[in-house]
Amino acid sequence: MKPGFIPSSKGCQICREGATMVLFLTGECSRDCWYCPLSRERKGKDIVFANDTQVKELDEIVKVAEMMGALGTGITGGEALLKVDRLKIAAGLLKTNFGKSYYIHLYTGIIPLESALNQLIGLIDEIRLHPPADLWADIMDTTYPSLICEIRKKGFSIGIEVPSIPSIRKLLPLLPLVDFFNINELEWGDQNADEMRSRGFSFVNRTHNAIEGSLEWSKEFLSDSKVNFCSSSFKDSVQLRNRLIRVAERTRRLFDTVTDDGTILYGVLENPCEEDRGILSDIDPELYEICGDEIHIGYWYLYDAEKKFLCKRYIVERYPNEGIIVEVTPVLCSGQ
Ligand code: SF4
Repeated sequence: MKPGFIPSSKGCQICREGATMVLFLTGECSRDCWYCPLSRERKGKDIVFANDTQVKELDEIVKVAEMMGALGTGITGGEALLKVDRLKIAAGLLKTNFGKSYYIHLYTGIIPLESALNQLIGLIDEIRLHPPADLWADIMDTTYPSLICEIRKKGFSIGIEVPSIPSIRKLLPLLPLVDFFNINELEWGDQNADEMRSRGFSFVNRTHNAIEGSLEWSKEFLSDSKVNFCSSSFKDSVQLRNRLIRVAERTRRLFDTVTDDGTILYGVLENPCEEDRGILSDIDPELYEICGDEIHIGYWYLYDAEKKFLCKRYIVERYPNEGIIVEVTPVLCSGQ
């Protein structure tokens, strides 16, 4: 995505800020796309995730959205429309808790029934259609052009969302009909690896799982302002980082420091002795926390020349909300 570019889809605008909660409504799907990016853990399984958190009860999604200060939700799967009742409950919970302006987009690989669409009015703001790849060659002879008009008439913002595969240019005739057209860079996954290999595809580079050539296949779309090409690196470096920063800012303790990458830093005193605990009496109790045998504390205190802690101490960098630890750095005082 070019700097300063504003995507046509409001769902994409919110996602770019890292303010979209991704609601994976089910891993079940009636299609079997060769490029399907779902992982082995999710594909075909009727499980629900809000971001990376598996939820057992649907109302848990409200807590996850609150924790990240979400402004919207992208409902995906699998095929979310296989679970229309669940979809209605989830969207209803989010709209009730966060208000009508909370923006919800739905991604679907099937043609929604009119009865399903009618039930989603007021709950879903934006619909992203993913037509099956075997229809792309004759897309204007399918029901998709009239479906797009029908969906718009019902008040939804309507667009297409597909991966950039070699035949994508066949969808160009749909471009004038839609409000937005989202293209995802094709990505290698654990379940589609054999299909990628059989087509002779390889990675763009060693740091991302994007497929070489994917940007090129979409080049005829890229000058249109309705088109948003979402690269693998953009998802990692901007969307994910912005989402982590939002979660970190909302869940940090007073003494946790949020980094530019969205991780948090804090200091640890391990098995502090009596003298160490004595030093703490000079520190605001809100700036440390006793956690079993450890004391977590603002990391800057470990470098404070006047506070000569004696115990083992180190700085921890980890993902927010008790996420995985990225790095542990021992701290030595001068003279040690
Ligand atoms: S429609 Fe989506 S979830 Fe279903 S098989 Fe295709 S890519 Fe996978």
